[in-house]
Amino acid sequence: MPYPLQPAGSHFIDGDYVDDPAGTPIPVIYPATGEQIATVHAATPALVERAIASAARAQAAWAALRPVERGRVLRRAADLIRERNHDLSVLETRDTGKPLSETLVADATSGADALEYFGGLAGTLGGETVPVGGGDFIYTIREPLGVCVGIGAWNYPTQIACWKSAPALVCGNAMVFKPSETTPLAALKVAEILHEAGLPAGVFNVVQGLGEVGGALVSDPRVAKVSLTGSVPTGRRVYAAAAAGMKHVTMELGGKSPLVIFDDADLDSAVSGAIMGNFYSTGQVCSNGTRVFVQRPMKEAFLARLTERLQGAVIGDPLDMATNFGPMTSERQLEIVLGYIQKGVAEGARLVHGGHRLNRPGFWIEPTVFADVTDDMTIAREEIFGPVLSVLDFDTEDEALSRANATEFGLAAGVFTADLARAHRMAAGFQAGTCFINAYNLTPVEGPFGAVKQSGVGRENSRLAVDHYSQMKSVYVGTQPFEAQF
Ligand code: NDP
Repeated sequence: MPYPLQPAGSHFIDGDYVDDPAGTPIPVIYPATGEQIATVHAATPALVERAIASAARAQAAWAALRPVERGRVLRRAADLIRERNHDLSVLETRDTGKPLSETLVADATSGADALEYFGGLAGTLGGETVPVGGGDFIYTIREPLGVCVGIGAWNYPTQIACWKSAPALVCGNAMVFKPSETTPLAALKVAEILHEAGLPAGVFNVVQGLGEVGGALVSDPRVAKVSLTGSVPTGRRVYAAAAAGMKHVTMELGGKSPLVIFDDADLDSAVSGAIMGNFYSTGQVCSNGTRVFVQRPMKEAFLARLTERLQGAVIGDPLDMATNFGPMTSERQLEIVLGYIQKGVAEGARLVHGGHRLNRPGFWIEPTVFADVTDDMTIAREEIFGPVLSVLDFDTEDEALSRANATEFGLAAGVFTADLARAHRMAAGFQAGTCFINAYNLTPVEGPFGAVKQSGVGRENSRLAVDHYSQMKSVYVGTQPFEAQF
């Protein structure tokens, strides 16, 4: 069934839609019904070659433009995305199953924010002059890296394409982007809109495919940088392949983030934090606070209020604006989540809400809450990537912090408390790249977003992202007769 803004081809290469039915067909499924809404083809090796070659060809001229001209293209694209937000959001909802009430505010709009923000930085991306004595000085030139590869996960297809392309392009790089095969459509619209806004052909290309297409992109010697959003195991593989070619990397990977709620916290705010940190996008958010540590005196009140508030989950047609909880994005991920729920029950956690697949077409599951979860249980150790919240009890601040940090992951962490000194102590102590005090999962483009430990390297968003898509050339300038030792 056609729907607004359906992309006109499988790939976007050298300024235009391209298709080659010789590539493996990839069905695009609407998760709310299981119905197939489109087919794209995986890129053949010839198309991967065309995409990289066109990026390599286009990059130098793009980098030679006056920076504000590059910025203008990005800002125009941001405006076009905002104008078309409704249709783009419907497309995103069809691609991912996320409710339109979410996609209207969190996907294309977040992508537009990134394009606007980095477009606005364009004129400021210079180097510096450093005096080194005797009249000599060093100046630095910020240069692009060259051809960058972006590889996306399936939870935020538009946002990921924009969060990677905006800083890459503003620095004068070209990009080849591979969306997840589960949600291949939105990145094509980003490419189309960037070109409509004036991006030269070849500067941003989208190719579809499974891991092997990603693998071919990552190992190509013409590629200077790889930015991946995906799971930790994929991150390890991609990082290793990039290392073989001495490429720059940004790795935005998975997490098992702690959300610590002290008994002096505002109960409703803390419950809101737990809901936002576990059930937004049906729990398919990398930074989710899935280990909810609740200080023992507040535990029963917290569970009572949480289960009461869960009655407000409207599970229905994602295109109906009243719906606030959609299906899982794929059947495979649904099965993984159901497997974790079974393990939670088998290992002795107390199921206090949900836990079941819904008896309807599509990939639906109830928002699920476990209480009495202990640190050693599988559901407290592994990333589930679905709507499963685990409540763990704690007594003291020191205990909460050390248990919060007892994980290989380090993406995000949050604390709810009325004691702001304690909140800042916790934020200082958390081993996490992105922390929240009395809030959760808010990631505006102005702030750096990223991880420590196994959850990744590098930062997206904020001025810091510029450093991950450019390199400084250092030029020593001698102003005196030059001498040597003999
Ligand atoms: P995967 O790790 O399975 O895949 C991520 C991307 O990498 C996909 O496009 C995938 O392609 C591609 N890929 C897989 N293998 C290779 C390879 N060997 N070489 C190159 N590319 C490869 O992640 P999911 O799509 O399942 O996304 C969920 C994960 O993403 C979760 O762990 C989540 O936490 C994380 N995530 C992290 C975020 C962050 O910012 N830190 C944000 C959002 C999600 P294909 O799928 O086509 O095989």
